[in-house]
Amino acid sequence: MNNSKIWLSSPHMGGNERNFVQEAFDTNWVAPLGPNVNGFEKDLENYLGNDSHVGALSSGTAAIHLGLILLGVQAGDVVICQSMTFSASANPILYLGATPVFVDSERETWNLCPIAMEAAIVDSIAKGKKPKAIIAVHLYGMPFKVTEIKTVADKYQIPILEDSAEALGSLYKGQKCGTFGAIGILSFNGNKIITTSGGGAIVSTNKEVKEKAIFLATQARDNAPHYQHSQIGYNYRMSNICAGIGRGQMEVLDKHVSLRRKMHDFYQELFQNVAGITVFESPNADYVSNHWLTAIVVDSDKTNGITAEQIRLVLEQENIECRPLWKPMHLQPIFEKYAYYGTQVAETLFVNGLCLPSGSNLVNEDRARIKKVFLELMQL
Ligand SMILES: *Cc1c(COP(=O)(O)O)cnc(C)c1O
Repeated sequence: MNNSKIWLSSPHMGGNERNFVQEAFDTNWVAPLGPNVNGFEKDLENYLGNDSHVGALSSGTAAIHLGLILLGVQAGDVVICQSMTFSASANPILYLGATPVFVDSERETWNLCPIAMEAAIVDSIAKGKKPKAIIAVHLYGMPFKVTEIKTVADKYQIPILEDSAEALGSLYKGQKCGTFGAIGILSFNGNKIITTSGGGAIVSTNKEVKEKAIFLATQARDNAPHYQHSQIGYNYRMSNICAGIGRGQMEVLDKHVSLRRKMHDFYQELFQNVAGITVFESPNADYVSNHWLTAIVVDSDKTNGITAEQIRLVLEQENIECRPLWKPMHLQPIFEKYAYYGTQVAETLFVNGLCLPSGSNLVNEDRARIKKVFLELMQL
């Protein structure tokens, strides 16, 4: 067997990406606007359905930043944020000088716990600071408890910014993730389910959100022949080259979702009779995850003492990439001074969890290598 690197999640081109990029060169649309940008937005709007309006941006982080601005978040405001996530979910709160309040996960979807979230909201209101927005994440592609979270958000009339960076192609009760929040965001970073080499998008059923996001993302130029500005602008638009890659990727999105889901099936089968290793899976049929990454939780009391970290190191030796789960934000040096509501759910997952190679481009030989390591390690 060869020993080439098996990645957690690497770019997987489908074929037509080059043609769209070539067309951009041929027509000299080498700029942060052009037919690929409009075409990619249309493709995403058709894919998401639900009257979505999509603005293509330079990154998912940029989309969260603009999303918070469009929800009216300003310096001094409080924003609720899922603690167990990538830091890009939370950083834009600080860009705006607002204050994050972190909330624990529940055990079923690993996303925002509605009970802890309500406690955070009630406390903030008691302190005279009703939260301006809730950042809810579909972690690893698993939809959060949309109904329960929306019920609490609606009760206090707080808009949801839906971080769907990892969940393009996931569904909750038949509806595509990215379309549930007042504003949704997507990411097309190199490690995501599809990539534009780097990019993101803002999603809303409100057409005005798209228009305003594009306005802010192109330096907030007022309608005048000279450069006239009455608001702070940003340079956050997606380029026509990147959008060309995105158009090619849209042609293979569904196929890549099904291949990621097959990787998840592979791990479920591998670990089905292994004591102490649990594959993270949907609580019920309402939740359809794209399984961007397959994650496991290791109970070392039942694995003869083998821990998640030991598994990670053994895989690393075999040139197989795997990662601990996202370290919760309330445990990060940059965020630890902010309020946190919850118990130890996210923290315990972080200690015992592991993300395994999940790319849509993995082949039988890769799976055989992964399987062999586990068979030896667990002495199956
Ligand atoms: C990747 C990611 C982002 C940020 O997206 P970029 O396009 O890399 O800026 C935000 N939130 C989550 C949960 C992510 O995984």
